[in-house]
Amino acid sequence: MMQKKIVVIAGDGIGQEVTRCAQDVLKLIGAQHGHQFEFDQALMGHVAIEATGDPLPAETLEKCSQADAILLGAVGHPMYDNNPGAKVRPEQGLLKLRKSLELFANIRPIKLFDDLLDSSSLKPEILQGVDILFFRELTSGIYFGSPRERSANGEEAIDTLRYTKDEVRRIAHKAFKAAMTRRKMVCSVDKANVLESSRLWRETVNEVAKEYPEVSLTHMFVDNASMQLIRDPRQFDVVLTGNMFGDILTDEASQIAGSMGMLASASTGTQTSVYEPIHGSAPDIAGKGIANPLAAILSVALMLDLSFGLKEEAQQIEQAIDEVLRSGYRTIDIAGEGLPEDKLLNTQQMSEQVQQALKAKLTLKS
Ligand code: NAD
Repeated sequence: MMQKKIVVIAGDGIGQEVTRCAQDVLKLIGAQHGHQFEFDQALMGHVAIEATGDPLPAETLEKCSQADAILLGAVGHPMYDNNPGAKVRPEQGLLKLRKSLELFANIRPIKLFDDLLDSSSLKPEILQGVDILFFRELTSGIYFGSPRERSANGEEAIDTLRYTKDEVRRIAHKAFKAAMTRRKMVCSVDKANVLESSRLWRETVNEVAKEYPEVSLTHMFVDNASMQLIRDPRQFDVVLTGNMFGDILTDEASQIAGSMGMLASASTGTQTSVYEPIHGSAPDIAGKGIANPLAAILSVALMLDLSFGLKEEAQQIEQAIDEVLRSGYRTIDIAGEGLPEDKLLNTQQMSEQVQQALKAKLTLKS
């Protein structure tokens, strides 16, 4: 029996809709296994700006620092996306949370449920058996380096790509440790033929690799990696990369899984970890109740596994999703062509199907 405090930051748009589902699943699995999960809601993003003027109010940070894990939906609103001059923005909340909790490693599993082989825009024979674990550095690199400014006359802009060896070392260790529990392969992605920061990255990863002699390390340039990911994704086991390259490659890789609505992520560091779907607030479908909640529900499975060590519970959630998909149920983003009408589910219905499958499991067991 475990007692855990979980802070839920639903955020904006579909973040509100999918975290509700994820929380329901977490409550159910907790009750089934006798765990006590205590939930506390906190504000971040556009909703926080509206309520307090601050995208990450001090109260939210305080709650997060006391929590055992954090479940996050998404932040973002078209009001800011269409106004590059806005001084206060929802994403500032997310970046500040990552920095404050030192969430330097973003972990994204890319796996395809067998029943979704046809939902991807890639050929099924290329996808079958894909199992990639991305480690993206999250609190440094070009998204954080300074100077970051516009010249006085507005005709020139500068961003700074900076890494220290310590920053590379700590995420490299996480990636190598994970590889030891998998197929023992790490592919480090950089642009060392052009960038000095990438040469430092490569040198440091080579040094760390010496501590993991069983793991085979390869290096790949990011342009080649972006091509190899869709040419032959099965060649990858653990992929280790910097902040911006990881941002782009993981969105590309999301297409392997059929939809942004299918992929979970964990952001970990030295303190509390954050679990969130990789998608954003999806303003185009927000409020319609049609978002796919499975990425958020898979984020909960990742939380149970990585933060609480509850592997069986995590696996049960994944199996429940697998069964629901095998029964042919789909949300609109993974529907494909010719789906019978009674198999098309909205957000809430998909969540209920997963909960039904979990309940059926426990009945079978007892
Ligand atoms: P997005 O991920 O919100 O949406 C991209 C496309 O995928 C949209 O067509 C959307 O409808 C679809 N989609 C995403 N999640 C889905 C789901 N669960 N079910 C079904 N369809 C889904 O990306 P975007 O449109 O580039 O950004 C929208 C807003 O989200 C922006 O303000 C952006 O800054 C923000 N954003 C936030 C995060 C985050 O909070 N971590 C990440 C990415 C983008």
